[in-house]
Amino acid sequence: MFPLKEKDRTVVQALLSAGCCPRCVLRFCCVGIQTTYRLSCKELFTELHKFLNDDKCESEAVENNQPPCKKIRLQDSKKNDTDSDQNEAPKVPLSEGVLPDGGFRTCTLCLGVLQDLCEKDFVKKVCGKVDSAGYHFHSLVFSVSLPPQLLVREHATWLLVKQEVGQGSFPTKDDILQLKEVYKWITHPLLSEELGVPVDGKSLFEVSVVFAHPETDGDCHFLATVCRDCFRPTKNKQSVFTRMAVVKALEKIKDDEFRQQFPYPLEPSKGSCIVEEIQCTHNSVYVAGRYNKFSRTLPQTPWIIDGERKMESSVEELIGEPLKKMFKVDNLNFSSSGREDVDVRALGNGRPFAIELLNPHRTSFLQQEIKELQQKINNSTDKIRVRDLQLVTREAIGHMKEGEEEKTKSYSALIWTENAIGRNDIDFLQDLKDLKLDQKTPLRVLHRRPLAVRTRTIHSMKVEYVDQHHFRLYLKTQAGTYIKEFVHGDFGRTRPNLGTLMNMTTDILELDVESVDVDWPPKLDE
Ligand code: ZN
Repeated sequence: MFPLKEKDRTVVQALLSAGCCPRCVLRFCCVGIQTTYRLSCKELFTELHKFLNDDKCESEAVENNQPPCKKIRLQDSKKNDTDSDQNEAPKVPLSEGVLPDGGFRTCTLCLGVLQDLCEKDFVKKVCGKVDSAGYHFHSLVFSVSLPPQLLVREHATWLLVKQEVGQGSFPTKDDILQLKEVYKWITHPLLSEELGVPVDGKSLFEVSVVFAHPETDGDCHFLATVCRDCFRPTKNKQSVFTRMAVVKALEKIKDDEFRQQFPYPLEPSKGSCIVEEIQCTHNSVYVAGRYNKFSRTLPQTPWIIDGERKMESSVEELIGEPLKKMFKVDNLNFSSSGREDVDVRALGNGRPFAIELLNPHRTSFLQQEIKELQQKINNSTDKIRVRDLQLVTREAIGHMKEGEEEKTKSYSALIWTENAIGRNDIDFLQDLKDLKLDQKTPLRVLHRRPLAVRTRTIHSMKVEYVDQHHFRLYLKTQAGTYIKEFVHGDFGRTRPNLGTLMNMTTDILELDVESVDVDWPPKLDE
């Protein structure tokens, strides 16, 4: 049974005459049964005409007090007798909307979106694109972007219905089924069947289709003169005619004004919407771990100045490149709990880091496979070593940055002294507890950090005498303390500094990070 009622008659008639497709007609009749929309365009057309003509026949018959359909038969005696009575003399001829080649005219309302652009052949084309993009996925989100003029056409058609039906029983804009909603009803089962995975709003894999219809782009333009403040230019949008702006303008404009400016019925369009873009994207995945750095000539991140590479490699690249290959991504974001200078080693348990892999084509890996990758990284170089490599959530990465300032870090430094020293000359350093420093932003980072004075604490120090001009200094400090500046003083910008404490010139020859006390990511069995 076709889900239309007597009251829908006027709407069906008006919209078919206005060149709307059957699915748009059903939307405006507020038909909420998904399966109805999945019938083919042809079936829907036939059903709609049957509905119109059946009832016409009956009502006319009742009016004339005659058996159904007799009058029509008598009037149209030239017709071949084998023709069905019910298909004769319909108010809307069946040929309306049908082209000579048997195809359908492009719907004046949806511009083809609910015609061939939602049917099996089109969905197959989309799936072909998805297949060739080479993603692994277990579900997908399907999103469509429609040209904004469809909103204008929807509004115009709604005004027409309002006029035709008269006061009282016309549907409100909220009753009409949204084009996008109906589009989902039709395409989701087809996509699911074709790709063999469910369509799921929570999926991390998204397929998006962008439709455009250049021929009618001008539809929206009159709104800008009527409702100027709805269409303010914004920096990153190509056109001011965004869907949001058009919705806003349509809410403001008065019915009469709209009718005056936007002529109805709508001109038949030459063709359906075009597909501007079919895009696949997968949400980022995150990998975390800890790294040791054993080299004094390896920067943490690629060191490139004015397009020229200053150092051969970096921690980021040594870890990132194999990950890129495994997850099949083009780009990644590397972050870590603090950073060390190119000439500083990171020893002990290593420094926590996290890598965001953008738009990965592969995402499902067992921990065993991640462990094998870690092994591969470690076998590929002796400059770094990775441990605790694991998949983590985006939220978990927050733990790495949490309270970074309050954390303690341990260092060891090789110190040079200008004056000769004995073992006893350095022992006093071990008695200094929670020594407060005022550190002006170091000269060497002044080009990328604002000038400020920060107070940092050296919790404790230990010394190990080497020879008359050298000793090893072990420090436990608040995170963010500039160790090199504490040792050489940075032209008095750090006070006190080791030189002022020892009353001689001191310098730093080597620095190692011994531990970064951040208990994230979780330790794994090696
Ligand atoms: Zn339509």
